[in-house]
Formats: sequence, structure tokens, C-alpha cells
Amino acid sequence: MKWLFNLLFPTSARDRKMCKDKVRFANEPAANEAIRRINPTRRKDKPNRAYKCPKCRGYHLTRSPKQQ
Ligand SMILES: [Zn+2]
Repeated sequence: MKWLFNLLFPTSARDRKMCKDKVRFANEPAANEAIRRINPTRRKDKPNRAYKCPKCRGYHLTRSPKQQ
């Protein structure tokens, strides 16, 4: 019934929720400043990277390894 789910939720509800639940920063410098404050040693088990979110056009923090 994946087609029905996709019909009802064109954008993944899970992605929306994840985005909504995250702290959003207006720009990359602000996000990086937040990382410096909460994770000054860039530990891998804490947020250590900012990325631009295509859903809300803001920046979120992540602890995922850098992609690409
Ligand atoms: Zn977002």
C-alpha cells in the first residue's frame, strides 16, 4: 500500500517530522557557531556538521559523516 501512502503524503511525513523536530538556523555561520558552542572538540557522537535543509531552506545540525 505504498502507493496509497505516497498519494496521501506526497512529501514523506517522517521527513517533515524530523525537520520540524530539529533546531533550525537561518544561515550556515549561525549553525557553525552553535556547533562550536555545543561540540567544541567536534566529537563524533555529537552534532558536528551543518547542512542546508531543502525542505525549510534553513540549516540543521547533524552528526552524520559528510557525504559526497
Ligand atoms: Zn528543515
